[in-house]
Amino acid sequence: MSDTIFGKITRGEIPSEFLYEDEHCVVIQDIHPQAPTHVLIIPRKPIPRLVDAQQSDSELLGHLLLVAGKVANDLGVGEGFRLVINNGADGGQTVFHLHLHILAGRSMAEGELAGGLV
Ligand code: 5GP
Repeated sequence: MSDTIFGKITRGEIPSEFLYEDEHCVVIQDIHPQAPTHVLIIPRKPIPRLVDAQQSDSELLGHLLLVAGKVANDLGVGEGFRLVINNGADGGQTVFHLHLHILAGRSMAEGELAGGLV
């Protein structure tokens, strides 16, 4: 499996500020924010795309959602945010190491696009 920038970040090989971390995942600021709050939840396990996740990853996937809620609350955006997973090149995925985007701080009202992420 090929390594990505997120593999290097989660392993600490590229110094990054972790807004949150635990044994399963890290949370960092997106380098090109598409909203006033734009952070990435990255599992330490390098699953390339959501469709590559296995049944054995179900606990990890649930954990990532729980971390998303906690981090959104901690960042003060728990009342309104969008959670995005891009899957595959046609889905807009550019880094092939599964990650969740939290986008918040501007209107995510129906019909609006999240900075090209959805
Ligand atoms: P994707 O398009 O794969 O869903 O999202 C990849 C995201 O990672 C993009 O929003 C991009 O701005 C962000 N990104 C790419 N490289 C880096 C990096 O080296 N550091 C950080 N913090 N974000 C990155």
